[in-house]
Amino acid sequence: MQPLTNRAKKLEKKPMTLAERAYLPAIFQGLSITMRHFFMKKATVRYPEEVRPFSPIFRGLHVLKRDEQGRERCTACGLCAVACPAEAITMVAGERKKGEEGLYREEKYAISYEVNMLRCIFCGLCEEACPKAAVYLQADKMAPPRFERDEFIYGKDRLVEPVDPAKRSERGIQLTPEQAEALRNKMAQQPA
Ligand code: SF4
Ligand code: SF4
Repeated sequence: MQPLTNRAKKLEKKPMTLAERAYLPAIFQGLSITMRHFFMKKATVRYPEEVRPFSPIFRGLHVLKRDEQGRERCTACGLCAVACPAEAITMVAGERKKGEEGLYREEKYAISYEVNMLRCIFCGLCEEACPKAAVYLQADKMAPPRFERDEFIYGKDRLVEPVDPAKRSERGIQLTPEQAEALRNKMAQQPA
């Protein structure tokens, strides 16, 4: 029968030598490959002790932003949850009471707000859907490894940024033209 391609290899069925029957060539060949890889530069890192540099456009752990007066921005409208393709966000809305104006910016706020980091695909659609610039994905943090699944459900205690402005995430702040230029330059230097 005519072969379809010329890539077919005809194998000769010759009897094995004594060394081949003892698997010696195969063992030495395997060992040489192992030794070669032993001294090569590792393709992996020892995460979490060692962390690779993040891309400037990396989308990591969520943060719920405060405004310039330290009030929570989120108004529990639910748009982020609707936009989320992984159904990773859940929340319970509440009405702001008298005297709580310094805590929540809007009359409605999120009593609870949870993101399931095991479901999340870090697409950033929640960030884009938010009309209050309240939720952002941080460029320099990801959910640390844990042994229990429950620990990947992030509530407001871990999502809302600190009141102290010095400890807040830089995400969600409008970049100045100089910062934007610096970011573009940094991205241009990244390996393709
Ligand atoms: S980043 Fe994407 S998957 Fe994760 S919570 Fe936001 S919308 Fe959902
Ligand atoms: S984070 Fe934004 S989109 Fe999501 S509930 Fe709060 S205000 Fe609405």
